[in-house]
Amino acid sequence: MRLNCLDKIHFFIDRAEWTIGAYTHTLYLVRASGIVKVTPVLPDELQCLYDLAYNLRWVWRSETRQLFRIIDPAKWDACGDPLQVIRETSSTRWEELLANDRFLDDYERECRNLEAYMAADSWFQETHDPDATGRASRDPLTAYFSMEFGITPCLPIYSGGLGVLAGDHLKSASDLGVPLIGVGLLYRNGYFTQTLSREGLQVENYSDHDAANLPIKPVLDAAGKQLEVSVRFPGKRFLSIAMWTAQVGRVTLLLLDTNLPENAKDLRELTDRLYGGDEEHRIRQEIVLGIGGVRAVCAYCDNAGLPRPQVAHLNEGHAGFLGIERIRGRMDNGLNFDEALAEVRSSSIFTTHTPVPAGIDRFDMSMVRRYLNPDDDGASKLVPGVPVERVLALGAEDDPGRFNMAHMGLRLAQRSNGVAKLHGVVSRSMFSSLYPGFPDEESPIGSVTNGVHMPTWISQTMRPIVKRIVGEGNLATADSWDHIDRISDEELWKSRNVQRACLVQAARKAVRQSWLDRGASEAELGWTDDILNPNVLTVGFARRVSTYKRLTLMLQDADRLREILTNEERPVQFIIAGKAHPADGGGKYLLQQLVQFADQAGVRDRIVFLPDYDIGLAQMMVAGCDIWLNNPIRPQEASGTSGMKAVMNGCLTLSVSDGWWDEMADDELGWTIPSVENADASTRDRLESLALYDLLERQAAPLFYERNDDGVPGGWVERMRKSLSVLAPKVSATRMVRDYVTEYYRPAQGTYLQMVDDPQASAHFVQWQQKLRAEWDKVAVTALSCNDQDALAAEKDIAQCQSVAAGNTLSMTCSVKLGKLSPDHVCVQAVCGAVDTNDELHDVRMVTMKPAANGDFHAEIPMVNPGNVGVTVRVVPKHPLLVSPAEMGLCTWA
Ligand SMILES: *Cc1c(COP(=O)(O)O)cnc(C)c1O
Repeated sequence: MRLNCLDKIHFFIDRAEWTIGAYTHTLYLVRASGIVKVTPVLPDELQCLYDLAYNLRWVWRSETRQLFRIIDPAKWDACGDPLQVIRETSSTRWEELLANDRFLDDYERECRNLEAYMAADSWFQETHDPDATGRASRDPLTAYFSMEFGITPCLPIYSGGLGVLAGDHLKSASDLGVPLIGVGLLYRNGYFTQTLSREGLQVENYSDHDAANLPIKPVLDAAGKQLEVSVRFPGKRFLSIAMWTAQVGRVTLLLLDTNLPENAKDLRELTDRLYGGDEEHRIRQEIVLGIGGVRAVCAYCDNAGLPRPQVAHLNEGHAGFLGIERIRGRMDNGLNFDEALAEVRSSSIFTTHTPVPAGIDRFDMSMVRRYLNPDDDGASKLVPGVPVERVLALGAEDDPGRFNMAHMGLRLAQRSNGVAKLHGVVSRSMFSSLYPGFPDEESPIGSVTNGVHMPTWISQTMRPIVKRIVGEGNLATADSWDHIDRISDEELWKSRNVQRACLVQAARKAVRQSWLDRGASEAELGWTDDILNPNVLTVGFARRVSTYKRLTLMLQDADRLREILTNEERPVQFIIAGKAHPADGGGKYLLQQLVQFADQAGVRDRIVFLPDYDIGLAQMMVAGCDIWLNNPIRPQEASGTSGMKAVMNGCLTLSVSDGWWDEMADDELGWTIPSVENADASTRDRLESLALYDLLERQAAPLFYERNDDGVPGGWVERMRKSLSVLAPKVSATRMVRDYVTEYYRPAQGTYLQMVDDPQASAHFVQWQQKLRAEWDKVAVTALSCNDQDALAAEKDIAQCQSVAAGNTLSMTCSVKLGKLSPDHVCVQAVCGAVDTNDELHDVRMVTMKPAANGDFHAEIPMVNPGNVGVTVRVVPKHPLLVSPAEMGLCTWA
C-alpha cells in the first residue's frame, strides 16, 4: 500500500511545529566595512497579520497557520513561527501577496474570525449570573499561577507535563470564555534542547531567546514606559521585574522578566532557565512568581482599568508565596494576620501534582527566614508588616528544618485538589497529618482529573473527522462524541494509516538528523530511509525520563522484546522520546540504555529514539501511534496527559492502572497492565514487563493484524470507536476547566464574597476559630446510648448493644461536654458502618445528631441490612465559612 501522506501539506504543518530551524553558514571572503540593518516592513494593508501572529490562537486554528504557510511555505515548514515569517519576508513577496486575491480573501477571513472569536460570548458568559456577584462576565475572576506554560514551541517557557497542562488550561479557558489571567516567568533560555552523543548520552543545549522575537508584548503604562514592579531581596537590594503579556486567545498571560539593566548580574539571571540552578536560585524564582506575580497582576489590572481578580489558583506549590503577598495587601488595609489569612484562604485554590513525597518542593527553613527577614530584626522586608514566624509556620512539616511548599499551599487554600481520582486518594493520605483526628478519606483535598486541549492535540487528519462527530462549530467546546457512527470503519482505519505513515516519515528524518548530530556522515546513513514501516503496529512511549515512569521496563527481557519487534507475521515497532532532567544522572543512564538497545543492528529499524521531545514532537507521536504505552510504578503517576492526547487521535491505551487510566480503564477500550503490589522492585518490574509483553504479543498484535475482506481490522477499529466516544469527552480540558469553574472558582468566589461583603465577617470568623481552638481540649463525649442502653466503650472493650430488627431504627443519644462552646459551634455526628475483626469501622455513614431539650444530642438511624453495625459519635466544628469540617484539624471521638 502506498500512502500519500494526507497529504504532504498536513504533514508539513504538523512537522513544522517541531522542527528547529536549520542553520546555514556562508563563508564571506571579503570583510564588510559596515553593516546596514534592513528592518522588516509589513504593508499597511496586511497589518492585521500582526494581530494574528501575536494572538496565540493560531496555535489551535489550522486555517490561520495555513495563511502563514502561504506567505513562505519553506520558511514556515522550517520554523512554524508566524512572527519569524513576517520578520523575514521580503518586500517583493509582500507585493506579490497583495496582488493575490485568494491570499487576501483568506487573510480577511482569518482577521474577521479572530475579531469575532475575541468578541463572542461563550459558555461562561452564558452560565454566569452577574447579579450573584456584581461583576461583568468578562472581568478577571481568577489569576492562575504556574512556573511554566506550554503553549507552543515558539514560546519556550515550559519543560513538560505541568507546563503543557497549564497551557491547555489557558486555551480551554479562552474557548469557554472563562475570565482568567495567567501568571508565569519569562525564561531567557527556557528549557534545554536535547541531542545525543555518539554513545547515546543526552546532550543539553541552551540558547538565548530575544524577547523581541517572541510572541509577547511589553505592558506599557500611560507614558509608554514598560510597567515594572519590584521585590526586596537580602542585602538591601531591590529586584525590578518587567512585565510582558502573551495573548492566548481571550486569556492574557502575564510574564515576569528580571533581565533588566538596573538589576545586579546575579539577579538579572534569575529568570534564565526553567528548573536550573540550586535551591537558592529556585527560591528566588518562586519569590518572583509568587510575590512579584501578585504585585504584577494588581499593577496590570490597575493600569488597564480592570477590576483585580478575586480568586488565585496555585498550579503546584511553586507559586505558594503569592499567599503571603495577598495577606500583606489585606494587612495594609487594617486586617490582622488571621483575618487576612482567612480571606486569602477563602479565595485560593491549590492543585498538587505529585503523589511522591520526594517530588515536593521544600526549602531550608533558615533560607526562607533569610529571604523574609534578611536583617534578622523580626520585621519582614520581603512582605513588610507580615509576622515572619507566622509565615514560617505556614510551611512547617515533620522536619523542623524544612519549609514545605505543598503544606503552605494547603494551609493557604481552603480548596485544594489532586489531578485524578486516584491521585486525590493518595494526596488525602499523604497530607493527612495536616488534618489530625480525621480519617484520610476526609482530608479536604478533592480531585479534578486533568484534561487536554482538543483543538491543539488532534492531528490535521483527525480534525475533519472530529468536526463531523462533534459538529462543525463545537470543536473547541465539544462534550459529546456520540455521533461517532457518522464515520465508517474504512474511514477510521484510513485515518490511522495516514497518521502512522506521516509519523514514520517524520521519524526517519529525525533519526537521520540525530545520527548526523551524533557525528555520523551522510554516506553511512542510507539505512535510515528504510527504518520503521508504515503498516506495522506502532507503539509510542514519550515522556519525561524519570525513574518512576520506567522507560526501560520494555528492556527487562531484551530477547523477548527482540522477538516481538521482529515477529515475521505480526511485527511491532516502537517510537520513543523523552528528556531527562539535566541533574538526573539516573534518568540519563536509563535513556542511554534505551538508545544503545535501539542502536543495535537487527532492531534499529523497529525501535527508534527521537531526540528533543517537546510539544511539536508530542503532536506527531500521539497522532501517529496505534498504541500509547504508559508503565509507571503505581500510584506514582499523578495523572499523565500524553495518553489523553493519544486517545483523541484514535490511538489505544496500554497502561498500568495509574493516573487518569485508573479511573477510566476498561478492557473494551484498551489494555491494562495489572500492577504488582507488595513485591520487591525487581519482582514487580519482571512481572509487569511480562504482562506488557503478553498483552502486546497475544492480544494487541493479533487484533491489529486480523483483517476482514476490505483489509480493515474490524476488532481494532471497534475499540478505536469505543475509546474515542467514551474517553475523548472525559479527557478534554473543556471538561476539566468547567469542573474547576463550577467546583472551585465559583464556590471560592462565593465564600470570598460572603467574607468581604460584611466588613466584620472575617473578624468574627477568626474570633470563632480562636475560641474553638482554645476550648477544644475540653470537648468530650461523656455518655452514649443506643436504644437506651449504654454504648460507650469502657477502656478496651467494645460495648455490645441490643439487637435491632432490619427495617427498624436505632435510637442514638449522647451527652457532650462543650466547655465554653455552645451547641451551635459544633456538629455532633453519629457514625455507623461495618466493623472488621479489629472493631474498626468501614463504609461509614454520618448522621447529624440534633440537640435535645435536656442538652443531649439525638438521632434516629434506619437499620436496613442485617449484620453487625459499628456505631460511635464524634464532634466537629461547624461554621458557614468552613468548606470542610476537617480543615481546622479538630475532631473529638467518643
Ligand atoms: C503532554 C506532554 C507531557 C506530559 O506527558 P505525561 O504523559 O504526563 O508524561 C510532557 N511533555 C510534553 C512535551 C507533552 O506534550
